[in-house]
Amino acid sequence: MAELKKNLAWIGAFALIAAVCAIVIACRANTAPHGKTAKILSDGETVRVVDLENVKTPYEFTVTSKDGGENTVRVENGRIAVVSADCPDKICVKRGFISGAQPPIVCLPNKLTVVVTGDSGIDAVTGGDAQ
Ligand SMILES: [Zn+2]
Repeated sequence: MAELKKNLAWIGAFALIAAVCAIVIACRANTAPHGKTAKILSDGETVRVVDLENVKTPYEFTVTSKDGGENTVRVENGRIAVVSADCPDKICVKRGFISGAQPPIVCLPNKLTVVVTGDSGIDAVTGGDAQ
């Protein structure tokens, strides 16, 4: 009888481990999309989402804020940068290209944020605190 209970306990423990593994795998599948994308936010609202995978020809576009501030964003294969802006500090331009596990590019005067998502590095960074 004692032996049977012991076996059942083991089966229960293995079932629990299997369930935890399944949950972890499911979560990873959700938080790690295959493609790397960049999200451009103006004044907290997403104004554009660009695919950073398979960018064959680099391109640029301008984001104009509600206050009229302009940032020119350059998209290259796997990375993105603000290449010119009419803000006084030019901190966003000085940041240069980001490609993944780095803090987003922020232009405070123009309320612009460029964040790269879908990269495994980002998942590791944001894993602790879901934003
Ligand atoms: Zn700026």
